[in-house]
Amino acid sequence: MTRDPAAQAAGNIDTSRVGWPTPADLEAVPDPAEQLRRELMWAIENRIDYAPRSLQTRLGPSELGHPCARKLGYKLAGVEISNPGDPAWYPTIGTAVHGWLEEVMRWLNGHLGTLAEGGPRFLLEHKVSVGEICGEHITGTCDVYDRVTGIVVDWKVVGEKQLKKYKDEGPGDQYRAQAHLYGRGWQRRGMPVTKVAVMFLPRDRMLHAAHMWSEPYDEQIAVQALTRAEGITTMVRGIGKAALPMLPTADAYCTFCDYFLPGSTELEEACPGHPGATGYLK
Ligand code: SF4
Repeated sequence: MTRDPAAQAAGNIDTSRVGWPTPADLEAVPDPAEQLRRELMWAIENRIDYAPRSLQTRLGPSELGHPCARKLGYKLAGVEISNPGDPAWYPTIGTAVHGWLEEVMRWLNGHLGTLAEGGPRFLLEHKVSVGEICGEHITGTCDVYDRVTGIVVDWKVVGEKQLKKYKDEGPGDQYRAQAHLYGRGWQRRGMPVTKVAVMFLPRDRMLHAAHMWSEPYDEQIAVQALTRAEGITTMVRGIGKAALPMLPTADAYCTFCDYFLPGSTELEEACPGHPGATGYLK
């Protein structure tokens, strides 16, 4: 598919596709079902490629706790993606489920009615400012804040292997930091935050396999993630791509990393992966 950067930036559909059959010329199409399949796939891939989430260039709360500093550096330095992979179908499933869950929570709010102090119990999809990096506000959209318990919840839709890993080992640095960053966002809005939680929902198993992780809110976990990201940002802004080889790496699903290129020796342009990386979970 042709990718027009200007259209991507605007979130517009790729209009470069030509040759759609009309009823008048359908007779010339040898296999209409195959033609239709290709057109449906084109539409799906187009909307995934042009979805706003594919085009973000600054770091958000979901990335700050990523264990690989070099990956954050590549993004901050605006390095071109070397490992585009297939259209991001799994994240698309996650986005679609998030939308449905928001509807569910709005229904639940309506069912519960307003609290005595006014307003709904659950605050949904609110934009919160979690802190600053080099003087710039870092904002993100928090899935759920429960005004009754003071618990912040983030939904994650994950595959079977990931689900087992999160059940056995906890949510990992990235999701843990993200949860506490959202907690800090609510705290900065003057709301009490008691705990942070990640609700892991199975992408390919029965719903009862869902797992909720939670722990008491700790602002320091959020502050540490911001401080680390500020250090990386300062390095990249100071010396540009020359900072990239100096940034420490981590075994963090390298084969799915946007900047992975096996055997790369030009570390300012692409990464050969963390030495001895074994992580492979999708
Ligand atoms: S390939 Fe692995 S080590 Fe390299 S930047 Fe990506 S996550 Fe980090």
